[in-house]
Amino acid sequence: MIVASDNHERFNEASSPTWQQQLSSAIRDPHALCKRLGLKSEWLSGAHTGHTLFETCVPEAYLSRITYGDTSDPLLRQVLPVSDEALTPSGYVLDPLEEADHRPAKGLIHKYAGRVLLIASPNCAINCRYCFRRHFPYSDNSPSRAQWQDALDYLRSNPTIHEAILSGGDPLAANDRQLAWLVGELEKIPHLKRLRIHTRLPVVIPDRIDNALLAWLGNTRLQKVVVLHINHANEIDQAVVEACTRLKEAGATLLNQSVLLRGVNDEVSTLTTLSERLFEAGILPYYLHVLDPVQGAAHFDVPDDEARVLITQLREHLPGFLMPRLVREVPGEASKTPL
Ligand code: SF4
Repeated sequence: MIVASDNHERFNEASSPTWQQQLSSAIRDPHALCKRLGLKSEWLSGAHTGHTLFETCVPEAYLSRITYGDTSDPLLRQVLPVSDEALTPSGYVLDPLEEADHRPAKGLIHKYAGRVLLIASPNCAINCRYCFRRHFPYSDNSPSRAQWQDALDYLRSNPTIHEAILSGGDPLAANDRQLAWLVGELEKIPHLKRLRIHTRLPVVIPDRIDNALLAWLGNTRLQKVVVLHINHANEIDQAVVEACTRLKEAGATLLNQSVLLRGVNDEVSTLTTLSERLFEAGILPYYLHVLDPVQGAAHFDVPDDEARVLITQLREHLPGFLMPRLVREVPGEASKTPL
């Protein structure tokens, strides 16, 4: 993983590690992860198998929310490589959303009318075991500044596109100099109205939301939407709440999308608490995705019928504005498909 190298003014005390230092010292070795979390030796072999298929990456800020020695911890299950990742059941594929068919320029994915997705960074601050892009060919889709010109030309020549979505990897894993440049280019395109950022970094390393980031985010003329990716209420600690507050003060609307994951959030009480906690942090629940059938993640699947029962029961516990929409992404469809 490439680690950004900007110097930043910091919110916290000068002695605290910067977000880049936190990212660079993330645990990337499955044995070290098991040791740090007090997991018994029987987990090591599976962790090694999963790691060879999709590398381990977990920063300390996230690790600190996991209960030591608890193998059923819902945050641990999202980041611990396991032997089930080597299973290859039919229907689970490398590119479940068929994104390879929708790339008109390097770094650009255009699937839906009115909006495009830009792969602003090939890196993540955490490797989530269920990630639908765990096999994505990032090396073919990480443009240099010069190479972004094709994507920007595509946007300039398509007046029907009103929204640019920064994605990745995690777009906020890029350094602020690069992001400020890219957003500066986007805001010069008159028909672009909105900037959407899909990110897990404010959750994984809350210190990422620093002054350097807020400078370019707060100054852009584009309307700003930050879509966070939080699957369980335990992921939201006080540092995350404060990061969200800073994003809102910069003018961003905060939404959340979750993935419905077996063993993580597949109970009504867990989803109820998640929505409540999101709202307390100033975030509105947006989507609850069923799992995209990516190879290596089948053990997280919750069948559609069970998902529908869960969402029906959830309605009995939450007001409408705290209900996420249960959806599936179907390749070739013009939008997400409600279930
Ligand atoms: S942060 Fe997002 S893109 Fe990165 S591994 Fe997790 S789910 Fe995938």
